[in-house]
Amino acid sequence: MNPRPKSVQQLVDVFKRLPGVGPKTAERFVMHLLKAGRGEVTRLTRSLDELQNNVRSCEVCFTFAEKSPCEICASDKRNKKTICVVAEPQDIFALEKVGAYSGVYHVLRGLIDPMHDAGVAHLKISELVARAAGGAEEIIFAFDPTIEGETTIQFIEKQLAGLPVARTRLATGLPAGGSVEYADEVTLAGALANRQQIKK
Ligand SMILES: [Zn+2]
Repeated sequence: MNPRPKSVQQLVDVFKRLPGVGPKTAERFVMHLLKAGRGEVTRLTRSLDELQNNVRSCEVCFTFAEKSPCEICASDKRNKKTICVVAEPQDIFALEKVGAYSGVYHVLRGLIDPMHDAGVAHLKISELVARAAGGAEEIIFAFDPTIEGETTIQFIEKQLAGLPVARTRLATGLPAGGSVEYADEVTLAGALANRQQIKK
């Protein structure tokens, strides 16, 4: 029999669904909350409530923000004709910290995984093509230099064929197999400044 109280098992199951969390870690989280007591549990509950109530998807770029359109999409200081395409919202946070970019973004919400062929329906690719067709002058691909990143660029390139929009990608300087999210600011600023034209 399962000796865990039902409520414990239930929360362990919830935590187990989080990326990078195995059953042992999930159980440690629950035990921590039980030992820490009511204050800690209330903080968690309140944070989850606020997350659910205050954060939404930007209708333009699909990042997560407290308003839609998000601050970047709504700003008249940003160049709306240059669109930097990233895999996840946290890549925007990393690029914005560098402070070297004045265009706007588009979040795909993932990359194509050629090994597991999960399809592309869950990615915001048609939305990107629509924005590109709506008068964009440059699309910058800012993906991690991985198989997934390369496959995604190739797929989107086919969708953009024929559109009068320049396509560039972050310069090497990002280590192969590295990550946009974890690149240091100097590397990321260099990769952005030296972005390269994609050969047609
Ligand atoms: Zn936005």
